[in-house]
Order: sequence, then structure tokens, then C-alpha cells
Amino acid sequence: MNFELNEEQREFQAKCRKFAREVIRPAARKHDEEESMPWEVVAEARRQGFQGIEALQRQAGDSEGMMGVIAAEELHWGCAGTALAIAGSGLAAAGIAASGTPEQIGYWVPECFGVGDEIKLGAYAVTEPQAGSDVKSLKTTARRDGDEFVLNGTKVFITNGGIADVHVVVATVDPALGTGGQASFVVGKDTLGLSQGKKESKLGIRASHTAEVVLDECRVPVENLLGGEEKLERKLERARSGKRSRSADALATFEITRPIVGASALGIAQAAYEWTLEYLDSRSEGGVPMLKMQRVQQTLADVATEIESARLLVQRASWMGRNGVPMTGGQGSMSKLKAGDVTMWATTTLMDLVGPYAWNTECPLEKWFRDAKIYQLFEGTAEIQRMVISRMQAREYAERFEYGAEVAAKAMAQSEAAKEPVPA
Ligand SMILES: Cc1cc2nc3c(=O)[nH]c(=O)nc-3n(C[C@H](O)[C@H](O)[C@H](O)COP(=O)(O)OP(=O)(O)OC[C@H]3O[C@@H](n4cnc5c(N)ncnc54)[C@H](O)[C@@H]3O)c2cc1C
Repeated sequence: MNFELNEEQREFQAKCRKFAREVIRPAARKHDEEESMPWEVVAEARRQGFQGIEALQRQAGDSEGMMGVIAAEELHWGCAGTALAIAGSGLAAAGIAASGTPEQIGYWVPECFGVGDEIKLGAYAVTEPQAGSDVKSLKTTARRDGDEFVLNGTKVFITNGGIADVHVVVATVDPALGTGGQASFVVGKDTLGLSQGKKESKLGIRASHTAEVVLDECRVPVENLLGGEEKLERKLERARSGKRSRSADALATFEITRPIVGASALGIAQAAYEWTLEYLDSRSEGGVPMLKMQRVQQTLADVATEIESARLLVQRASWMGRNGVPMTGGQGSMSKLKAGDVTMWATTTLMDLVGPYAWNTECPLEKWFRDAKIYQLFEGTAEIQRMVISRMQAREYAERFEYGAEVAAKAMAQSEAAKEPVPA
């Protein structure tokens, strides 16, 4: 077992950090204040290979699963909103990759990013006003009409919603079947009937565009049904015959994507920690340098330890996902839960150390504190992660106990034969 990053990974980490320091950070405050999309940073990210197909290929060719989490942490160290603006199209691409046919993947995934200097965006639209965690209650409908599906409904809180070139929309073709009656549709740019609703004004990650997406008699060709008609028919049949469709496969997919979200959160925590160390290094109280004060040292040690432990969970889960090791204990969800909670706690704790200046908009801690909260709220809230972990753990331990009972029975038989006491 080797916990060290190899040379290639360390070089990539340094390259990401340089980009975050030299390109993301100088533009971050402006886009945070204006709540504007950092197009010029996204374009530079493309030129330097941090966005688009090149970034996807790097992740696909990475046998250890570290490149994705390294990039996520370092770019979010620069600015979480900007990093999401750079990476957000990946959600739509992942939705297409998860459900599409090889032809659909080959055509639509590049459309989520654009090629060369051309920047395109993707959006993945699931959430509705009454259905976020509770995905089975989606109300957006997809009605078959000849060679088309007609979409109607409103999606909320959609990253890149309304400004994307490709919207992947999850809608229900048979509301009575819950998730078993749902399907994903690709809606291309300028499709009539798709429009942006209210643009959200947010506490944090303000450089990332979040908006409602309104679908009003929005017509898409049957070919835009991800996975195709036969696959949908089989899914509907299964659901009608009472078989559950939100299977272990969906849970397993989420386990694989969650470490990236955890790494993103950790970028904020790491940024806040590094800044606080530097700030306190220049300060003293009653003639005593702050970094020499025991209460300060105790707190900084806790922050560093929590960040490190969350990072280990993130890297382990990412490695497991890449190497096909089943995350049957909810290791992916654990990594996202822990990193989100650590980041919120660390930014608050570091503000307490710094004092009232941390509340000033001049102080970067204020922004990191605002940016941190979302990691307990989106991509599965902290409560939903806990539910997933506890269910997966219960299942895993039930299996382990069975195995344990077998071993214990064998040990008992051997001990009886040898007339030895069995250890409790
Ligand atoms: C900035 C931002 C960007 C987003 N981007 C996207 C996007 O690109 N695409 C997209 O589809 N969605 C997106 N979302 C939506 C986000 O994923 C949802 O808001 C999230 O899943 C929570 O769903 P909800 O809003 O319906 O809250 P609810 O599910 O109603 O949750 C409300 C509260 O109840 C708790 N809760 C709910 N169910 C349970 C339960 N069974 N047990 C215990 N507690 C529970 C939750 O944890 C939460 O605390 C985004 C949201 C934000 C804020």
C-alpha cells in the first residue's frame, strides 16, 4: 500500500494550483460580487486542458483515480463558484454516459463542452420544486406524440440551466410508476419550448449560474430519449410487474461520483486553512505570536487533522471507484459527507480564531464560509448521505455477520474437539 502521490500526480497538482492561483483567484471576487459567469476563466481553463474533452480523457486514462479529485480540490482552492462553472457541464455528460447508447454518448458528450476554442455548456435537470431528494415525485412529463416526445414542467436550481447548449432532462412517462416510469431526454440548443426561468441569487458559489428551466410543450425527437425506446419499454415493464428500478446500479454510480464533490469541498477548507496560518503568522496578542499560543495551536491541529482525514476518505473512495472495488459500505457517500461537514466546520472554526475581521467582506474567510455550505446541501444533502451510508452499512454487516457466524461455528467445533475454551 502506498499513500504517496506519484511524480505525475504531484506535477499535475502543481499545475492545477498554478492555474488556480494565477487565473481563477484574480477573477474570483469580481464574479462573486457580480454573480456573473466567468467565461474568460472557462476559456483559459479549456486552453490549459482543465476543461472539456481533454480533461475527461485525462480522468479516463488515470488508473489510480487521483487526477479527478486532485483537479477538483485544487480548482476549488481557487474559487468554488468558478470551479463549478468550469466543471459543471460534466454533470450532463455523466448523465448521458450513464444512460445513453454508444451513438448518443459519442454525439452528445462533446456537445456538452464544445471543441477547440468553442465553449459549450451542459446542464443536468432533475430537481423540481417538490422533488429534490424525493426523486420519485417528479412532475415533469414526457408525452409521446408521433416521432417526438413533448416535455412539460419546471425544473429548479439547475446549474447552467437555461444557458446550456445541452440540457439533459429527467421526466416521467408514467407518473404512476415512480422512478420506474422516468426517463432522460436530451434537449439541444434553441429547442422551442425550453426557456430559462428565474435566475437564482445565491449565498455562495455565486460565479456558477443556477436557474429554473421551464419546459412548455418542448418537443424533442424520439432519438433524444437516452438509452432508446427498447430500453425504456423494458424499464416500464419491470416497473409494471412490481420490480424496483432504482436499483443498486444507481446507488453504485452515485458512490463513484461523490468523491469528486468531496474533493471540491476540501479545496475550500484547504484554502481557508492555508490563509489563516499565514494571517496568524503575522499577528500577536499581548506580545505573544498567535501561532505560539496553545489554544490557537490546538484548534489549528484539529482543523489540519480533520481535513487530512476527509482527504483520505475522498482519495480512498476515488481509488475504489476507478479500480472497480465495490463501495458496499457507502465509502463514496462517506467521503462526500465527511468532506462537506469538515469544510463547513473548518471555515466557521477558522473565522472564530481570526475574530471579527473574518466577518468583513475584505477577508477571504467570509467568502469561503459562504461557499462551504452548499456541500451539505446539493449532490445529495448530508442527511441523505447518512441515510445511504446507514442502509449500505446495515446490508454489509448483515452479510459479514453471517460470514462471522460461520467462522465462529467452525472455531467452536475445533475448540470443542480440542477441549479448549472459545474466546468471547
Ligand atoms: C446551487 C445549487 C445547484 C444545484 N444544481 C443542480 C443541478 O444542476 N441539477 C439538479 O437536478 N439539481 C440541482 N440542485 C438541486 C439540489 O440537488 C437539491 O436542492 C437537493 O437535492 C435537495 O433537494 P430539495 O431542494 O428538494 O430539498 P429536500 O429534499 O426537500 O430537503 C429539505 C431538507 O429535508 C431533508 N430531507 C429530505 N428527505 C429526507 C429524509 N428522507 N430523511 C432525512 N432528511 C431528509 C434534507 O436533507 C434537507 O435538509 C442544485 C441546488 C443548488 C442549491
